[in-house]
Amino acid sequence: MTATTIDGKAFAATLRAQVTTHVAVLKADHDIVPGLAVVLVGEDPASEVYVRNKAKQAGECGIRSFETRLDAATSQAELLAVVQRLNADPAVHGILVQLPLPAHIDANAVLGAIDPTKDVDGFHISNVGQLSVGQKSMVPCTPLGCLLLLRQFHKGGLAGSHAVIVGRSNIVGKPMAQLLLREHCTVTIAHSRTRDLPSIIGGADILVAAIGRQEMVRGDWIKPGATVIDVGINRVTRDGRTRLVGDVNFAEAAEVAGAITPVPGGVGPMTIACLLLNTVTACCRAHHLPEPA
Ligand code: NDP
Repeated sequence: MTATTIDGKAFAATLRAQVTTHVAVLKADHDIVPGLAVVLVGEDPASEVYVRNKAKQAGECGIRSFETRLDAATSQAELLAVVQRLNADPAVHGILVQLPLPAHIDANAVLGAIDPTKDVDGFHISNVGQLSVGQKSMVPCTPLGCLLLLRQFHKGGLAGSHAVIVGRSNIVGKPMAQLLLREHCTVTIAHSRTRDLPSIIGGADILVAAIGRQEMVRGDWIKPGATVIDVGINRVTRDGRTRLVGDVNFAEAAEVAGAITPVPGGVGPMTIACLLLNTVTACCRAHHLPEPA
């Protein structure tokens, strides 16, 4: 193996320590406690785990967390009323509505109802627009986490690097492209209709794989020395054991890449750390105080 394994778990712990320090200063100097409200509709087991982890990690950083659990049969109007209440609550600086929502609820209508200044997921259309024109916005947590890893671990600087992003979703691929453009990368976005993906990936100094297909990217597609950020989380069962794998074949890629994130322990831990960072950022903006760096 030649690649450096990027320890996202350790880097996320460092980020959470910085968030904790910032939260302590807000309390000591201004008597302000950042608040994060998480809304969960229904009983999706994966969402339950995410929400529990978010609340636990928020608490460990000194962020006050507010949890609203609603029945799967909750109407869209009832959910919108909850969002409006949280929008108006000065103790709440960040609002996150856990996706997916039940099929009878229009997720866009709900995300669009969140006050954009409290939209710590960065999914509100005004944050999407501000990001795309290079204005200050709330940035979606997963691509923000990837960017922080790249700034730290990509050798040779981001400006001028060729970044290939595989995946064009609104929550990962597209905002990732905007962030890397802002860093002056040359950005290629690939997707399911892209022709000859291996040769496109072969030109990448930076590869961000956000596909959702287990170990699809093979080692011999990757440019030697490239930095590989594997966003994918795929559950596989082999020999009776269930485990998580990424979108990149780690064993093969690690022989070629310069640095690579593992799954688990790469991008995943950064996502929640960035949610906490966004909450503190939103709190600081609400009070016109300096934001975390
Ligand atoms: P989506 O399903 O919304 O998007 C997947 C993208 O991959 C689409 O743009 C799709 O193309 C593209 N794609 C699918 N198949 C191929 C293919 N054969 N070749 C090239 N491109 C392909 O997924 P998300 O963006 O939400 O998530 C992607 C992965 O990241 C998932 O595994 C998810 O679990 C994980 N994830 C991890 C997070 C974390 O915290 N680590 C957070 C969020 C997601 P097209 O648009 O043409 O359909």
